[in-house]
Amino acid sequence: MPACQICDTRKPKRYCTSRGENICTQCCATEREVSINCPLECVYLQESRAHAKLVLDVSTMPHRDVQIDERFLQHADVTLILFSAFFSRAAMPIPNATDAEMRAAIEAVIQRFKGAPAPPEEAIALQIYDNFCAEYDKFRAEITKDQKAESVFSDETFVRVLVFIARVAHGNNNGRPLCRSFLHYLRATLPPNMEASVG
Ligand SMILES: [Zn+2]
Repeated sequence: MPACQICDTRKPKRYCTSRGENICTQCCATEREVSINCPLECVYLQESRAHAKLVLDVSTMPHRDVQIDERFLQHADVTLILFSAFFSRAAMPIPNATDAEMRAAIEAVIQRFKGAPAPPEEAIALQIYDNFCAEYDKFRAEITKDQKAESVFSDETFVRVLVFIARVAHGNNNGRPLCRSFLHYLRATLPPNMEASVG
């Protein structure tokens, strides 16, 4: 059997679905989400999440001025589930989307809510942003028709929920350039019926 296709030294022990070839466990561990664009479905990637060291850097946490506590999250739980589903579905049709593009898209959505729209320049982030906005605008049109629903949702709540999502994305960063830890997290936390596109 030929050696690992990356290091050309060690015994290949697993099939890399991204590269379409056999690689060794060490190369899998070091190159995963670094030089290998790992699909979310990869079992080795999924297994690695359990041992991932996520270092939460509070100093670079997005929008530190915004106060979010347990009470607010309970109050805004419906919006949180809804917006998380919108982001998850916004990224789903884009196979190369990573957390970095997700974070850029989330930040752009926050700016849009603050009345200073600045769509991302990067193509994938822009696509996530556009997909999110399309779904949100449809939702917004629905609640505007329904006074009771409108009283439950407010722009102030929306912005704070988005900031919370931005912080969760920030906290899920494992430091690898092609990290998809947040995308995995989003998928895992959503109720199954929220996964399907409503479009
Ligand atoms: Zn190797």
